Amino acid sequence: MSSTNGQVIRCKAAVAWEAGKPLVIEEVEVAPPQKMEVRIKILFTSLCHTDVYFWEAKGQNPVFPRILGHEAGGVVESVGEGVTDLQPGDHVLPVFTGECKECAHCKSEESNMCDLLRINTDRGVMLHDQKSRFSINGKPIFHFVGTSTFSEYTVVHVGWLGATLNVAKPKKGSSVAVFGLGAVGLAAAEGARIAGASRIIGVDLNANRFELAKKFGVTEFVNPKDYKKPVQEVIAELTNGGVDRSGWGVAVLVGVPHKDAVFKTSPLNVLNERTLKGTFFGNYKPRSDILSVVEKYMNKELELEKFITHEVPFSEINKAFDLMLKGEVVVFHLVYECFYDEIRFISNSKQKQLQLFQILYSNQVTIMSSTNGQVIRCKAAVAWEAGKPLVIEEVEVAPPQKMEVRIKILFTSLCHTDVYFWEAKGQYPVFPRILGHEAGGVVESVGEGVTDLQPGDHVLPVFTGECKECAHCKSEESNMCDLLRINTDRGVMLHDQKSRFSINGKPIFHFVGTSTFSEYTVVHVGCLAKINPLAPLDKVCVLSCGISTGLGATLNVAKPKKGSSVAVFGLGAVGLAAAEGARIAGASRIIGVDLNANRFELAKKFGVTEFVNPKDYKKPVQEVIAELTNGGVDRSVECTGHIDAMISAFECVHDGWGVAVLVGVPHKEAVFKTSPLNVLNERTLKGTFFGNYKPRSDIPSVVEKYMNKELELEKFITHEVSFSEINKAFDLMLKGEGLRCIIRMDA
Ligand code: NAD
Ligand code: ZN
Repeated sequence: MSSTNGQVIRCKAAVAWEAGKPLVIEEVEVAPPQKMEVRIKILFTSLCHTDVYFWEAKGQNPVFPRILGHEAGGVVESVGEGVTDLQPGDHVLPVFTGECKECAHCKSEESNMCDLLRINTDRGVMLHDQKSRFSINGKPIFHFVGTSTFSEYTVVHVGWLGATLNVAKPKKGSSVAVFGLGAVGLAAAEGARIAGASRIIGVDLNANRFELAKKFGVTEFVNPKDYKKPVQEVIAELTNGGVDRSGWGVAVLVGVPHKDAVFKTSPLNVLNERTLKGTFFGNYKPRSDILSVVEKYMNKELELEKFITHEVPFSEINKAFDLMLKGEVVVFHLVYECFYDEIRFISNSKQKQLQLFQILYSNQVTIMSSTNGQVIRCKAAVAWEAGKPLVIEEVEVAPPQKMEVRIKILFTSLCHTDVYFWEAKGQYPVFPRILGHEAGGVVESVGEGVTDLQPGDHVLPVFTGECKECAHCKSEESNMCDLLRINTDRGVMLHDQKSRFSINGKPIFHFVGTSTFSEYTVVHVGCLAKINPLAPLDKVCVLSCGISTGLGATLNVAKPKKGSSVAVFGLGAVGLAAAEGARIAGASRIIGVDLNANRFELAKKFGVTEFVNPKDYKKPVQEVIAELTNGGVDRSVECTGHIDAMISAFECVHDGWGVAVLVGVPHKEAVFKTSPLNVLNERTLKGTFFGNYKPRSDIPSVVEKYMNKELELEKFITHEVSFSEINKAFDLMLKGEGLRCIIRMDA
């Protein structure tokens, strides 16, 4: 049950105060849903020409102030009385025309003009009580076509919660003319192409549209400006008497006309067995039909990517209006007048689109991947030798075996541990190898015995696993799974001691069971955390190692008390996550220790209150800290990997109660030396892998912390590079610049 259930929600909305004036992002009150109404959180919305039309309100009744928007996708926050087929958490697509499922129109196969919920552009209130659910300081703001999706929350009648293909029904090999080559027109052309029309004649006054239109199957182009005679005569000549669909002939009107426009034609034209039809929402019934349209996309019959040309954040919504008014592009629209309406992603990133589909479809569809059971050939960054730049190679990735999962990596980042095993200075060299262990991806296929993951699930691979059956997994205190604990020397899968990667049959080794520097990788199911599919993978991927490690080292292991003092050694991403943990735990002094003075400015954002650079002092840093803190800090967390820092971190905690936690990965031959008296005096020394989090049981809730804004991940992400530039990420880390560099696999 959502905590906002029954309450007024205050949120941001883009309000159109006056016709034609830029929308203003305002804080609005959104009342709870009434009888047969649903309140939804809008996740994505896009702009359709119909919004621009009613915003300009030139030939329309002006209804202002108003919240426009009708192409969107969201999640149910709460439902009003009488709503039985939706519940909080359901994914929905508001649609401007509804389906009550009871009137004659809804019961007819041929109409979607529901008596109760058909589109009404003049009404700015809800049907139930003729009132608006939006207000600013009590003053009502009007709704738009029952949807008003340019708001973080909106209230919609449950029946409103999916043009060509359905209406014109062109036959295979026939010809179709499409008037207007904007998103809707191009969707109509796409419909004609899918139906197998052999000639598709595009008509537009804007010649720039033709190049674009070719992608949608338009075969010929007519610009009425180029001819003296009426365009219908031009088309009649081109097609031997008229195109099939405007000849024997069905013409479909989709455009929203000027209020006072009049349609005039000779009745003879109708008499001659032509049909004139109009359609709203392509005759799709939103509740009954839309899933099958989504399915068309999933089956690759329908391409949505090409309809999506731009993406803007909500705060820049006016830019979307500018783009559409300039007509330079087919904006945001997806297909078939509005059945893109459900798909709702304003993104030209295929990943994001797929992500949305998976969300929309989470419970209805199992996405069967066509690569299931096959070897996949893809790109991977191979470390051929210690310390030499990685080389992007084409590799073969074998299908997942028993208890394994093959995933498509969408984002990965670089952690110092990768650099460490790449340099392999104090480590056992295992080459050629595919490094990488901080990442986010989507399950492509699963091997025998995997029951809790399926294709399409969003996952974070983790270098240490959780079998859920050994004594460690059963203990509340350990995450050192007997079966799947980190092993940096092993370069093969547990099941058969073989690698799943090869180049021309020659094996390439794995790294800590993850090897995320590859477009596809194979991971043991016990090393995958299944996470909220709504979480943006380009941010939460950093939780798959560094940030969770630092955070957990403080919160789960050091456990500082409120008001206590904490020293953090090493202010890289892991150390700053440890500092963030100290801040969350309420520590009042957080002392950052680093050899790189550049890190301090950055560290302030993470709650570090004081800074000590060991280079500035002649005496050992533990003595400096003891002086600063009257005998020692309450807790310390070491995140450098250097043995002297480890020793200092232990010796700087207060006797009697101090706890030091080691996180850094040390040189293989490093030796920890201290006087046993330091221990005897009631100091505690601990180490941790992955912040003591169990990957499968605990990481999903850390992701939720980010989703609830308790945890900020953005500040850890300082750089981004494309996969082809992966060596740049290594350079940055070696130079000590920035914290985390996200590597985008699709770029
Ligand atoms: P990073 O390179 O971004 O940060 C390390 C920081 O330590 C740098 O700012 C560096 O200037 C500083 N430093 C180095 N030597 C120092 C010294 N003697 N005294 C004070 N500061 C010093 O690395 P990162 O990605 O944040 O990782 C930090 C460490 O944590 C690495 O050793 C990494 O391998 C390890 N790690 C461990 C786990 C685990 O589960 N235990 C998980 C992830 C990373
Ligand atoms: Zn790591």
